[in-house]
Amino acid sequence: MIRIQNEPWDAMVAHARSTYPNECCGAMLGSLDGDNKVVSEAIALKNAFEGAQAARYELRPEDLLAADKAARDRGMDLIGIYHSHPDCDAYFSKTDLQNSCPWYSFVVLSIQKGEFHHANSWLPNFEQTEAAKEELTY
Ligand SMILES: [Zn+2]
Repeated sequence: MIRIQNEPWDAMVAHARSTYPNECCGAMLGSLDGDNKVVSEAIALKNAFEGAQAARYELRPEDLLAADKAARDRGMDLIGIYHSHPDCDAYFSKTDLQNSCPWYSFVVLSIQKGEFHHANSWLPNFEQTEAAKEELTY
């Protein structure tokens, strides 16, 4: 399960609302104890997708590496990635699967008409063929 503390959660929702109607993306930092993850910091990253960003996001590998380094510098782990789905449910799309990594949690925030609606966390399998829903609290 994954728990997102108030501060990073508020930052993630604010980020997702600010990029609406485009997708936002970012990194979640925190601590890891077996399957129990606690997110204590969120870092907004640039959506680097060159094209319509209403239904796509792309992370630059160097941004992800920098987020990973920032986590280690602070004695934390890079727990996962978040992104938003403007006017769409918080499902894990085929594109999301193709761009996933099995060792991260993927939190999807559904933003409907500019306001936060609901969120889910997903755990992709190693084959990147499906993702299981992870218990999410915020
Ligand atoms: Zn998506």
